[in-house]
Amino acid sequence: MRKSLPTRVTLSAVTKSFRKDEQSILIEDLTIEPGELLTLVGPSGCGKTTTMRMIAGLEEPSSGDILFGGRRINDVPVQNRNVAMVFQNYALYPHLRVTDNLQYGLKKRGVPAKQRQEKVEWVSKLLHIESLLERKPRQISGGEQQRVALGRAIIRDPDVLLLDEPLSNLDAKLRMIMRAELVKLQRQIGCTTVFVTHDQLEAMTMSDRIVVIEKGRVQQIGAPAEIYNAPNSVFVATFMGSPPMNLLKGDIVISGSELTFSCTGMRIRVPLVGPTPPGADNGPVTLGVRPEHITFDAEEGDFPADVVLVEFVGAEKFVFLQTQVGQMIARVNVNFPVAPNDRLNCTLDRSKLNFFAEESGARLALAV
Ligand code: ATP
Repeated sequence: MRKSLPTRVTLSAVTKSFRKDEQSILIEDLTIEPGELLTLVGPSGCGKTTTMRMIAGLEEPSSGDILFGGRRINDVPVQNRNVAMVFQNYALYPHLRVTDNLQYGLKKRGVPAKQRQEKVEWVSKLLHIESLLERKPRQISGGEQQRVALGRAIIRDPDVLLLDEPLSNLDAKLRMIMRAELVKLQRQIGCTTVFVTHDQLEAMTMSDRIVVIEKGRVQQIGAPAEIYNAPNSVFVATFMGSPPMNLLKGDIVISGSELTFSCTGMRIRVPLVGPTPPGADNGPVTLGVRPEHITFDAEEGDFPADVVLVEFVGAEKFVFLQTQVGQMIARVNVNFPVAPNDRLNCTLDRSKLNFFAEESGARLALAV
């Protein structure tokens, strides 16, 4: 059904400042590839929605260029950008039936009735809402309203689809179902899509690539696995992943193809599998380890820990540990026998460790 080829969107040195005394938003260089599902994620107020609104044409950048397929569109008004948006509150017209909500935009553009009907058929089939077409929004559930809002957006064959927290109003179960459906739908229509969320799990599960933003600055752009496995800063390491990455402050000494990390209560040797990068020096660092990379089967282990709390989360358990190194959280299989007050020997998976510069929090490119 899609007629046009997907569009590449580029933001080049784009800034936005609302007030002089507040930190501005700066997107130095971001290209959203044709047909890609790219997610902007970050804490509240970091600038996700503003960035998306600038792409839409609802907000004017203070400086910089926004391009659709190589064409600068800064001065193109929103109605001429061929973008479609879905918001957290679906903003359906309450007095119109689903079918009229779906084709509202087409009608306003003067698309003939027969074509509108064909498009309604296509989109309602795609979103499984064929049986709801005669109902008013108040007569359908939140999840169904969400589908109608999506349908109304994609029926116009937009060049760019912008989704601002579209799943936030749904309950947890429906959210999970809709996450998968949205990704499937996006693949089917192949439209370049920007998704805004503050939910790291949503970003991780749905995106081709993720842009992590903090305080108006892009912290990292990458595929979900890249961001999870090799976060480029302490902020990304702790924002992405739940429970978050454990952080330990200590010192490293690099000697040949090995480094030694030491802090109060722990001293571990880590083999280096690649050349030591320039600038990687002996001195204070923050070591990061994901909860699933702490194991307990070694006789001696790297350090002992007292179990403070065990949280049951279905197939897994989160084990809260008190160690000399600090508080840590481990993730274990539900069958692993562990209870509060147990004493365990912890071992860190050497190949999964992350090291960050102590002051800046930036990742050190040490190949472990
Ligand atoms: P949230 O997840 O809470 O929606 P966000 O990451 O989408 O947050 P934005 O809505 O883009 O954040 O806001 C970024 C910053 O710009 C915030 O500090 C906000 O207060 C400010 N801001 C946004 N819109 C305006 C406006 N119209 N006037 C003044 N300041 C604004």
